[in-house]
Amino acid sequence: MNNQTHTAQCMCGNIKLEATGPANYVEYCHCKTCQQSAGSSYIIWVIFDKENVKITSGDLSLYQSSEALKRGFCNNCGATMTVHSARHFDIALGVMDKPDEFDITQHIWTKRVLKCIKLNDDLPKYEESAPN
Ligand SMILES: [Zn+2]
Ligand SMILES: [Zn+2]
Repeated sequence: MNNQTHTAQCMCGNIKLEATGPANYVEYCHCKTCQQSAGSSYIIWVIFDKENVKITSGDLSLYQSSEALKRGFCNNCGATMTVHSARHFDIALGVMDKPDEFDITQHIWTKRVLKCIKLNDDLPKYEESAPN
């Protein structure tokens, strides 16, 4: 289980990622930047230690979306794919080849949840970032 490999790719297939080991967290992020990046209500991120993820194909384009974070996307198909911080390499659940392998563990930035989204599960919920 610890050496499990997870693969991901963008819509056009130019960019491929490979992550090993269990994810640290799998979280709904309701922050404004994720909403703008996705053009939707939230993004679900699968969070790995950065040394456990590698780009196996293509050139991931990066955008510095805040002081601490860069966001990775495909400059051909425009897919939102990743978030990079000092410690973590997050992969959007929607670009995972097998998204059903992951159980979601928490919600973050719930103070930005859109009114049309109903949070009716028992997962931990954090107003802003999760403590970690
Ligand atoms: Zn692409
Ligand atoms: Zn976010």
